[in-house]
Amino acid sequence: MSDIAGVRLLGPGQIRGLAAELGVRPTKQLGQNFVHDANTVRRIVATSGVGPDDVVLEVGPGLGSLTLALLETAGRVVAVEIDPVLAARLPRTIAEFAPGRAADFDVVTADAMTVLPADLPVTPTALVANLPYNVAVPVILHLMTHFPTLRTVLVMVQAEVADRLAAGPGGRIYGVPSVKARYFGDVKRAGAIGRNVFWPEPKIESGLVRIDRRDPFGTDEAQRAATFAVIDAAFAQRRKTMRSALAGWAGGAPRAEELLREAGIDPGIRGERLDVADFVRLAQAAGTDPVATR
Ligand code: SAM
Repeated sequence: MSDIAGVRLLGPGQIRGLAAELGVRPTKQLGQNFVHDANTVRRIVATSGVGPDDVVLEVGPGLGSLTLALLETAGRVVAVEIDPVLAARLPRTIAEFAPGRAADFDVVTADAMTVLPADLPVTPTALVANLPYNVAVPVILHLMTHFPTLRTVLVMVQAEVADRLAAGPGGRIYGVPSVKARYFGDVKRAGAIGRNVFWPEPKIESGLVRIDRRDPFGTDEAQRAATFAVIDAAFAQRRKTMRSALAGWAGGAPRAEELLREAGIDPGIRGERLDVADFVRLAQAAGTDPVATR
């Protein structure tokens, strides 16, 4: 156990103790794998680059491992936890392990898939989280969409999902998460995490992903929704050419071809070759077209 700024981090003994006290049986459904390694949580915080000016949104604080590491460095932490038993214990854990920082911590019992800024007592500037793996991508996209104040994201996810998020056009793993994440800014892999830092140990490897928000296409919600709809349509049948993959979306293959040409895209290309700017232009070409934008 180490001690920075009067904060003690959780090791295997504390994790076991807290879990036993609460009668926690980690569930796969909620992606409950708790980190019991101080070096790992410190590394996540260091990679996120958050500092005293940041208000960090942590999704799924669990027993508080990463929360405490965040409180060593960040100005404030607001945690969103779906499990009411874990959420209820957190303030006491923070008071015990980071007594000097208890006033800078809030926990909200909520689902990160639907939480909105009005549900939080503070406005977050960064998302740092060890995400529940089965909902990692929808949680990231929901939060980037509804919390425009989030400038940086550093999340731990399943390694395969980290690869997908960070993939560029042309490859086999490039898909919906890769394109949509890029709508908000720069996305990159930020490290690998082994299995033995978790309790219980997961069967899969983990990876870190960093997103720096730049909003290269602005923040208009209608444009984002229209762009995401065309991305979904293009990758729903990723082996098809754009002309036929987008037939349903456009109201027929000839109309799809027209819109593609208007956007300067070869109708014979597959979606996996296009970057996010191509999809934005395509959504804009469709404009108020009654079928393509319905
Ligand atoms: N941050 C802790 C750590 O690193 O040890 C726990 C991480 S664990 C992988 C994921 C956490 O997310 C669990 O505490 C789980 O209860 C919580 N969780 C699962 N689904 C959630 C959701 N939809 N919204 C908020 N929290 C969720």
